Amino acid sequence: MMVTVKKRTDLFAIAAVCLFLVATAAPALGQESRPTYIYDMSFDRSGFTTVEVTYNSGLAGSGSSWVAVPGNFTETVAETLKGATTSMKRVPYRVGQDGTVHPFYDNLTFSYVSPDEPFSMRITYNMTQGAMIVEPNGFFYSPQIGVPTSARVEATLTLPDGVETLDEAAPTPTQVERLGSRVEMSFSPDTESRIAVTFTVSWPKQTSYVQEGIVEGEFPTRYTDLGARMAALYKQAIPLMDNLFNKTMDRISMRFFIPLSLQQLGIGGYTPIDPSTFETGAIYLNLFYFRFLSGTTETIAMHELTHQYLARLGVTTDLLWVHEGLANYIAVQMGNPLGYDVTSTDADLEAAASELKGNYGMIQSWRPGGTTTSLFEYYSASYKVFKTLGEQYGGLSLYSSFFRGLSKLKDGLRSTNVAVYQLSVAAGADLVPEFTRWGFEVVDLSNLNAQLAKLRAEVAWYGPVLPFRDQALSHLELAERSLDSSPEVALGHITIAAFYIETIPMIIGGILLVFILLAAIAAVIRRRSRRKPTPFGSQIGS
Ligand SMILES: [Zn+2]
Repeated sequence: MMVTVKKRTDLFAIAAVCLFLVATAAPALGQESRPTYIYDMSFDRSGFTTVEVTYNSGLAGSGSSWVAVPGNFTETVAETLKGATTSMKRVPYRVGQDGTVHPFYDNLTFSYVSPDEPFSMRITYNMTQGAMIVEPNGFFYSPQIGVPTSARVEATLTLPDGVETLDEAAPTPTQVERLGSRVEMSFSPDTESRIAVTFTVSWPKQTSYVQEGIVEGEFPTRYTDLGARMAALYKQAIPLMDNLFNKTMDRISMRFFIPLSLQQLGIGGYTPIDPSTFETGAIYLNLFYFRFLSGTTETIAMHELTHQYLARLGVTTDLLWVHEGLANYIAVQMGNPLGYDVTSTDADLEAAASELKGNYGMIQSWRPGGTTTSLFEYYSASYKVFKTLGEQYGGLSLYSSFFRGLSKLKDGLRSTNVAVYQLSVAAGADLVPEFTRWGFEVVDLSNLNAQLAKLRAEVAWYGPVLPFRDQALSHLELAERSLDSSPEVALGHITIAAFYIETIPMIIGGILLVFILLAAIAAVIRRRSRRKPTPFGSQIGS
């Protein structure tokens, strides 16, 4: 069974929306006087991508336009082909309806004059990981396509020799043809969009191994530096996690993966956990997220590592709200000590949670494999529960106490009632009312000690006259014994003991009362019948 992280689905949602917009946008062909941007992209077997964008103004004369180009992290070359460029500058590139400034791309605005023929310019740049490949799977994600809405966009993508199959593409290509040993795809993308293609390759995989203490990783050789970076993160994280969970791991394995379909793009990482033995497999990290904001992959990696520690503690994956809530909370909390940026993760989860207006109860029945249309809401609600409690009761130290309580449980943590009970013990406060306000349905296990003490006192009061005294005492003892290891079992014994100590005496008392009443009535009747004069008394008497 797998625990799947839907990390940063909102970002994927943005990408997906763009892609779908593109898919439905009708290409405006045949209007040759319109300005045109032609994207020519090709990548090699390492995923290294060259991008050539050719602008044609459509009409002779002067004018201006703009195109999105990568920020200063890579070199962009602009070359005038026809006419003259009179000015050129980089300004912030704003995307979407709200005009958010793109973190990685600039708006390259230029003016030109070309009196005799349409103006033309070529812009070139490279992307080290335009395509990401973990043989045999590959994934191409184009640079940001960004030009004025009045322009027409055409794009071609040339894949390397050895690409065996094309699996999925968005938008739908207008043409796919084989040029010798290479495949070329043509698209009519939207003016603000990306092109995404999944494919498989036939060439063999070259693998590198990385070992850092108990951390081992196996990666395609071209990503050895990324693998080493993540192994170093885990090496640094392990002492902090050991201390937090009061548990150690024997081994942590790490792999990279490529989404097999565009739908899987939203999966930041996953780690298989056996639901009965709690054994964990390798941690798989989606290579795609190395192209996101700094800190994204680190946050995903720590999220997955948290799942492994939780499994080690015996927290069942059926309690997804506990697993996912803590995985995101701890991944965010570890950002500061481990030196990675978690601002966007926290902000995205907070924004989604705020829509729920404090109603988080639906996560109580969140199970692996369940289908929901709003998965990110479930992640955000679970995160918010642990973040709120953390803010109220001491942050990570609250959870450190919680984990110490969980390690005493005989069969691990398998129920929400016990989770809330153990959280209450760790917080030193009854959290049932708070969880109830959030919409959880929780059986209060927090006053078990008080109930036990009360029943013990009642047994003492009755002394030896208590019927079923031995049975009552044995259930009280069983309750005491299972109080820490299985509080719900303890509750069961307390309920039975209460039946012997409170209900049975009451029933017996009631029956006795009825007998006493009946006896009293009988006595009264008898007395009355004695007083009644008998008609033949004198005869009997004589
Ligand atoms: Zn997860």
